[in-house]
Amino acid sequence: DRTPVTVIGLGLMGQALAGAFLRDGHPTTVWNRTAAKAEPLIAQGATLADSIADAVAASPLAVVCLSDYDTAHKLLDPVGELLDGRTLVNLTSGTSAQARETAEWAARHGSAYLDGVILAVPPGIGTADAIILYSGPRAAFDLHEPALRSLAEATTYLGGDHTLSALHDMAVLGLMWGVLNGFLHGAALLGAAGVDPAGFVPLVRQGIGIVTDWLPGYAQQIAEGTYPALDATLDTHRAAMEHLAQESESRGVNADLPRFIQDLADRALADGRGGDGYTAMIEQFRKPSGSR
Ligand code: NDP
Repeated sequence: DRTPVTVIGLGLMGQALAGAFLRDGHPTTVWNRTAAKAEPLIAQGATLADSIADAVAASPLAVVCLSDYDTAHKLLDPVGELLDGRTLVNLTSGTSAQARETAEWAARHGSAYLDGVILAVPPGIGTADAIILYSGPRAAFDLHEPALRSLAEATTYLGGDHTLSALHDMAVLGLMWGVLNGFLHGAALLGAAGVDPAGFVPLVRQGIGIVTDWLPGYAQQIAEGTYPALDATLDTHRAAMEHLAQESESRGVNADLPRFIQDLADRALADGRGGDGYTAMIEQFRKPSGSR
């Protein structure tokens, strides 16, 4: 597939996207506010458009990757009519509400709109390390999937509802920060005891693998709304949370994270969930912040 493509936005990510299209032989037109960022891509064969209008008109497929949705609208609103009959793929990060609103805007202009999110860093684009999620009309995804595969081996279609990509992005980001904060807190605790955190890494790798293996069963419990303690009760977890909080405090390490987790567990215990498994905590996450 050698579909001509347009890439609008040549920040760190947009440059990687355009580079991946060029590597796969797609005629690639680019546009960026700061035109100088296009120079390495022009050297690889890209065409620099003089205007966003020219950029959009150059290809049946336009991929946009800008700082935020407000910027995307500021740039695309004036050229909305040119999108008629073309496919717009927006890989800018945002909320699901912004995705829905942009889908409505695109529909008014006769454009097929795919909202996408990139779960990768720029060096991962075009490799097995990149996941890109898409939501929007199936026909538009099917039509352009061969070209979009240049960007990520895991080119994943989530469904027709435009909000799905952003929602999954949020869920994955929350997971990432949860894992990273757990790692950093552990490294701080070990560091306070004079232990090299590097030795912690193999344990983390194994631990994440073990926890990952629990998830299919846990997801089933959440779907069914029953939380049998097949492995450990929430009471047992709660006692261990206290150990982590005390250890942190006694070593002068920030204990906010374990105390926060402990607070959530206490709310679950107050709801009579002490004999249930850890997944019973889902009920606390389902409530708005601060509600008991
Ligand atoms: P950069 O800050 O490197 O690039 C931002 C882009 O937006 C540039 O093209 C910039 O143009 C453009 N821009 C910003 N404000 C304006 C404006 N007012 N008018 C015109 N153009 C504007 O960000 P990234 O490339 O890293 O990120 C782009 C998107 O990709 C974000 O939504 C980000 O969340 C998402 N993303 C990034 C990842 C990463 O690892 N970098 C990972 C996953 C998603 P100019 O060059 O002229 O400043």
